[in-house]
Amino acid sequence: MSVLVYIEHAEGSVKKTSLEAISYAKALSEKLSSGDVIAVALGSISSDELAKAGTAGASKVLHVNDSKLTEGIIQAHAEAVAQVYKKVNATTLVLAKSSLGDAVASRLAIKLDAGLVSNVVELPDTSSGYKVKRSIYTGKAFAETQVNTEHKILAVRKNAVDLKTDGGSAAVEEVLLDIAPENFATKITSTDKATGEILLPEADIVVSGGRGMKGPENWGMIEELAHELGAATGCSKPVSDIGWRPHHEHVGQTGVKVAPTLYIAVGISGAIQHLAGVNSSKYIVVINKDPEAPFFKAADYGIVGDAFEILPKLTEAVKAQK
Ligand SMILES: Cc1cc2nc3c(=O)[nH]c(=O)nc-3n(C[C@H](O)[C@H](O)[C@H](O)COP(=O)(O)OP(=O)(O)OC[C@H]3O[C@@H](n4cnc5c(N)ncnc54)[C@H](O)[C@@H]3O)c2cc1C
Repeated sequence: MSVLVYIEHAEGSVKKTSLEAISYAKALSEKLSSGDVIAVALGSISSDELAKAGTAGASKVLHVNDSKLTEGIIQAHAEAVAQVYKKVNATTLVLAKSSLGDAVASRLAIKLDAGLVSNVVELPDTSSGYKVKRSIYTGKAFAETQVNTEHKILAVRKNAVDLKTDGGSAAVEEVLLDIAPENFATKITSTDKATGEILLPEADIVVSGGRGMKGPENWGMIEELAHELGAATGCSKPVSDIGWRPHHEHVGQTGVKVAPTLYIAVGISGAIQHLAGVNSSKYIVVINKDPEAPFFKAADYGIVGDAFEILPKLTEAVKAQK
């Protein structure tokens, strides 16, 4: 018996969300005595990097080192993970909620005849049955889902669990799989990466600007603060509609949903459609000159004042802290 974790990686590093999934799996296996936490990684990545999965709680990483799997071809990933799941005699698969994770998990639910719960925020309650709490309505409510199947797939929401960092180094084993060619029916021939230093959906800190920034010529202030904090930049919908910022930065109900540790909103009113994309953030800081701006109700910290005065001071303060 074991818990298997499907880990995602990009540019040579295991994603933080996957390390969180491992931490969740470790806590789950301790709670339910479900055996070892084993991770599976697909495609090209170094063994040293994979061994770091041990710090989050994995005892072993099975590495299917097939370069054809480096790009996230969904059918092939689902087939590979299903084979490994059966090989290690797992009863539960844990993964990070993400677009690739969602696509792979839904296919795996069919292949493994498993119950799938996505956006999981807590360990299951097993006092009567197997109930899993998940976030719904873009983070505005929670639902409890009863899972009745023997096999279970749990997709953990970003920032829902504390990242464990006190484990050791995981043993990394190479695994050869026979993945039938029909699983590679699609091929990613090229990818256009969004510009910017850090990708918005995965960023741990986001600095986002709204119409209060007055125009694209003022975005240097947002970018400078973001640069100092190691953050991605975002914006409200009207800002991308007017063309001040590219569409992939638009955050909200109709844009990117983010769940960073820190979301800094500058000159954004806090309309419900914007909040729908940010209310899973751990901490929200709002800078707005209007003390009645709705965003303050959702904020952990608020600064009432002119963004053009506050942003340079904040950036200087961050620089001074370094
Ligand atoms: C179907 C639908 C879907 C939508 N989806 C989204 C979505 O996904 N994302 C989204 O963002 N919006 C979305 N919207 C639009 C949303 O309703 C709001 O209109 C929008 O979020 C407002 O953007 P804003 O806060 O940048 O601009 P405004 O509402 O114009 O607010 C600007 C804010 O800046 C402040 N400000 C002005 N000057 C300064 C200054 N010098 N210093 C500090 N603060 C200042 C003002 O006090 C104000 O609060 C959607 C709307 C609809 C109808």
